[in-house]
Amino acid sequence: MKKKIFRYFVGVIGIAVAVTTVLLVWLSYSMFENRVIDDLRAQGRMLGRLIEESGEEQALALQQEEMRITLIRADGTVAYDSVADAQSMENHAKRPEIMEAFETGEGSDIRDSRTLQSSTFYYALRLRDGDVLRLAQEASSIWSVYMKAAPLIVLLLLILVGLCALLANALIVHMIRPIEQMTAHLDNMSGVTRYPELEPFMNMIQKQHEEILRSANMRVEFTANVSHELKTPLTSISGYAELIENGMAEGEQAKAFAGEIHKSANRLLTLINDIIRLSQMDGPMPELVFEPVDLAPIAAATLDQLKLNAQQMGVTLELDAKSAVVSADRQMMEELLYNLCDNAIRYNVRGGSVRVEVRPVRDKVIVCVQDTGIGISRENQEHVFERFYRVDKSRSKATGGTGLGLAIVKHIAAKHHARISLKSELGRGTRIDVTFERLPRG
Ligand code: ADP
Repeated sequence: MKKKIFRYFVGVIGIAVAVTTVLLVWLSYSMFENRVIDDLRAQGRMLGRLIEESGEEQALALQQEEMRITLIRADGTVAYDSVADAQSMENHAKRPEIMEAFETGEGSDIRDSRTLQSSTFYYALRLRDGDVLRLAQEASSIWSVYMKAAPLIVLLLLILVGLCALLANALIVHMIRPIEQMTAHLDNMSGVTRYPELEPFMNMIQKQHEEILRSANMRVEFTANVSHELKTPLTSISGYAELIENGMAEGEQAKAFAGEIHKSANRLLTLINDIIRLSQMDGPMPELVFEPVDLAPIAAATLDQLKLNAQQMGVTLELDAKSAVVSADRQMMEELLYNLCDNAIRYNVRGGSVRVEVRPVRDKVIVCVQDTGIGISRENQEHVFERFYRVDKSRSKATGGTGLGLAIVKHIAAKHHARISLKSELGRGTRIDVTFERLPRG
């Protein structure tokens, strides 16, 4: 990038300097042209008056050497020329300056020599008797001025371009420095020079960098948690199996140990299922199918599925669901409702109740799962959606919890652009609302 900016800079400056020099030379040359013509005019008028007053012979005898003087009759024939033989000269009636003089009283013209080395300046004046007096003077042509000035122009150009290149380089280094510093110090940008124009860009880069770090941290933490969670049931399976293997358990006891192994294996299965779900949801999920889904029948089916669990816990279930269609992945909606209702039953009290509502409200659909259970304290409320976060570990485990249910709920809600709100009071109960965009009918 530096090289590109630099080349661009020097190119622009080079062109600017070249154009300026050419224009300047042209301007000064045209001023010079005007002056030569003005000089010729002054002398022509003087000589013209002299001819009119004292006659041709006398006046022309006073001619100056560096100036060519020609006298042309009204028909264009040359009557006198101070340099060439007048008789042998061709008719001059068609020369631009002479035609102009015949028409308007005076005329001028500049003609380049064949080699372009010099130019001849002509001034013609009509005299009172109808003859035209012409003065001519040779001077360097604009091309020869350019040629003479060329070395100087090139030298000037080189110096200027060189100077600008140095300046451009310094400027570029200064401009690029914050970006280089930023790249080197992504972790801590406090010492980096900040341009207001770059501020949004830098903020975005920094935010992304932090996000990458955070997600890397989360992954490491998650792996550690997973290993730890898997270890507990496996240790227990291995322990009971070993006891049976060594013949330490017989009859009823062996049966009880097999039961423990069964329980731990089931726990492993649930854990692994939840982990697979979570890691699937972490990715782009190409198999996600959005379709119009009515949440009311799903809520009814979920409560039906959990009827037995609720009975065992001594919890009554209530449903108040109105047909409400959202654009969603059906399986995910089932999962979301299952996890919320399952929690509401498991963290409830004997004789408590769970109420599930599905309500279309204007352009939204609210799914509300409310229980009269143990509640969640304020400090814990902000953490329950984290992976493996459990308020009461033993109760969670005893009821088959993995600490991943609400993390999955949060993921599903995010994939559906739904908003979750949690209200809870210790000892009184919990209420979780998930608000979806309602799918317009038709
Ligand atoms: P778990 O599998 O342990 O239930 P979740 O992610 O579903 O994990 O929930 C995280 C924690 O939040 C639970 O361990 C529990 O302590 C708390 N929790 C979740 N739902 C409720 C609820 N309805 N009432 C009280 N506490 C709850």
